[in-house]
Amino acid sequence: MAAWQRRFHDAMMGSVATPLIMLDHGEGSWVWDVDGNRYLDFLAGIAVNSLGHAHPVFVEAVAAQAARMAHISNYFASEPQVQLAERLQRLSGAGEQGRAYFGNSGAEANEAAFKLARLNRHGGRTRILTLTDSFHGRTMGALALSGKPAMRQDFEPVPGGVAHIAPTLEALDQSIDASVAAVMVEPVLGEAGVRDLPDGFLRRARQLTAEHGALLIIDEIQTGAGRTGRWFGFQHEGIQPDAITVAKGIGGGVPIGSLVTFGAASRLFAPGMHGSTFGGNPLATATANAVLGEIERAGLVENAERRGAQLRERIRSLGSPLVTELRGLGLLIGVGLARPVASRLVRAAQDAGLIINAPNAQTIRIAPPLIIGDDEVDAFTERFARALDAISTGIS
Ligand SMILES: *Cc1c(COP(=O)(O)O)cnc(C)c1O
Repeated sequence: MAAWQRRFHDAMMGSVATPLIMLDHGEGSWVWDVDGNRYLDFLAGIAVNSLGHAHPVFVEAVAAQAARMAHISNYFASEPQVQLAERLQRLSGAGEQGRAYFGNSGAEANEAAFKLARLNRHGGRTRILTLTDSFHGRTMGALALSGKPAMRQDFEPVPGGVAHIAPTLEALDQSIDASVAAVMVEPVLGEAGVRDLPDGFLRRARQLTAEHGALLIIDEIQTGAGRTGRWFGFQHEGIQPDAITVAKGIGGGVPIGSLVTFGAASRLFAPGMHGSTFGGNPLATATANAVLGEIERAGLVENAERRGAQLRERIRSLGSPLVTELRGLGLLIGVGLARPVASRLVRAAQDAGLIINAPNAQTIRIAPPLIIGDDEVDAFTERFARALDAISTGIS
């Protein structure tokens, strides 16, 4: 055990396992550990570092805003905050009827969405439907929304009124009625193993929620900010939801989350109903503006689609019998494995100088920065091939 691992173990809360690597710094799509080893970072802090590490636009935005003012509380307005709300109105397609609430994480964005759903109580409705195996965060409300009983069991009772349904069109047809206040879904179930929704699922959910007066809330925390090859995952389906939640990639590394409402849902919250001390502070919102501005300027949404297709082609061309399926959209890729060896493959990849992760035993998740080019795609292919080889020879 390295000395830092001992210190980690002796000082950090036992809520996470002691990591194997202590990182020191990064540049672009690469990171270095404290021993000087270099890794290609194809996890990007779990789909957070949209511009990679130490991007000049990110560095300049943080430094400039920190030198101006970082935090003011929500008793005051700031230009970066209003600008980010306007930018999200535009990018989400919510337009002038849209509104943004800012918090500091995905879980907080979903807590705000949970409260939004409770405000949609016409006819006394309070039920919220989410999907089995879905992930919406770790705070108590977000945990109640998440369809992962194992994550919840030690913390019961969690807030009630949430039912988890199978991700099928039949389950939607059977479950949405006048008792439902909201349906919340991820366009791609990230933590569940980068699993795609069935064809037509979001369109059917939109149709049924509209018919029955329920809100359709899309959790875009992992899929937003251009990662799937659209600004937001729901935009692949040509629907308009009542709200989306975003976090992770929109800040490029600063903690930020947001609930963005569309149309009539924008009128549910009244002054005093919700808030956060840090939420939408100038430091976080100025940085998110800069990050989203750079994604737009550099055409990184298109790059996500193009590089996603290129990576899929490369992985297929490796012809490994261990790889059975490729899931996800754009630069959110799930590699389905024939055997439950995902953690071993993650470690073999680390040994080959590649960071990826395993949301479950039979899936590898690949979520690189949106800035990757040919060099990174080549470096990935070579390293991933070595990791697959190491595992295949180890097994047979
Ligand atoms: C990561 C994630 C969350 C939780 O976000 P935090 O910032 O960790 O609280 C919620 N929903 C989805 C889909 C996520 O991927």
